[in-house]
Amino acid sequence: MSTPHSTKRWIGALAGLSLCTATLGADPSDDHVPYGIVIHGGAGTITRSALGPEKEAQIRAKLTEAVNAGYSVLEKNGSSLDAVVAVIELLEDSPLFNAGIGAVYTDDARHELDASIMDGATRQAGAVASVTTVRNPIRLARAVLEQSEHVFLSGSGAEAFARSIGLPAVENDLFDTPFRRQQLERARDQADAIRPDQKFGTVGAVALDRHGNLAAGTSTGGMTRKRFGRIGDSPVIGAGTFADNESCAVSATGHGEFFIRYVVAYDICARVRYRNERLVDAADAVVLEQLRDVGGSGGVIAIDRRGNMAMPFNTEGMYRASRRVGEPPVVGIYSERAESDSQ
Ligand code: ASP
Repeated sequence: MSTPHSTKRWIGALAGLSLCTATLGADPSDDHVPYGIVIHGGAGTITRSALGPEKEAQIRAKLTEAVNAGYSVLEKNGSSLDAVVAVIELLEDSPLFNAGIGAVYTDDARHELDASIMDGATRQAGAVASVTTVRNPIRLARAVLEQSEHVFLSGSGAEAFARSIGLPAVENDLFDTPFRRQQLERARDQADAIRPDQKFGTVGAVALDRHGNLAAGTSTGGMTRKRFGRIGDSPVIGAGTFADNESCAVSATGHGEFFIRYVVAYDICARVRYRNERLVDAADAVVLEQLRDVGGSGGVIAIDRRGNMAMPFNTEGMYRASRRVGEPPVVGIYSERAESDSQ
């Protein structure tokens, strides 16, 4: 009798096999698949004056570097899963974003990190929540996908799994930054437990590779002054992250409680799959109508199997970048109009 683990691997292998059959004959070196990548670095109250030219330049440079890193994986015939991980690791290592180093603080002044990843070819997924000693949570999420019999691990169990696969433990203060500490102090001065109006800074990526496979991933420190133990949407498959070759790949950022309740990432892909909506219409309907109407601030990035991309947000800004086959990267922070006005 097979164990659940071996069953999972077996199902994965079978799905991979049928996919290979479906893509057999496709020349991986040609550009018929409109491969591409979209990334985000969070959404929220991002204004030119609040950001300042120096920080804006740093963020644009890091987004460009990250989107190019992901694109170069795809260009070299790498998988969408590899491209997503390459982007997210780079952003986790940057103090500019709320993921890995630079993560926001919990109410008790620590960092609890959440991440998830999903493979659109097999619908395998891996997620971790409330992780405190893993430098790159996206790497751990991927290991859950590939090396465990489970989809979602949390807290000390996730840490123990990290050790078992050889990911070293780091001190929690590795993630400290003065900027996030100030945000915590400011939030403590306010009556609100969390500040949904503030810039969030979660990171994510969605990609379509040359074999026509989609993937999505998201990584975050959550929300400033969150209660310890609070888990947002980012590691919740279907809420903050979703990928399925039959529809689309989505990574979200914003006020997680809303994104969980409205199952945002899956809802967008379900509209594409079952109602045949265009990706951009589905993403706009969920983010600019449904979520906005109920006060759920944030945005998403999405890509479908034809390489269509969507990046709607209902906040003032969203750090984002995209790159399509054969084209240079496009980076944005403010609304489309504000971006084109500045060019
Ligand atoms: N969605 C994340 C959370 O609620 C926060 C963010 O996107 O910045 O944990």
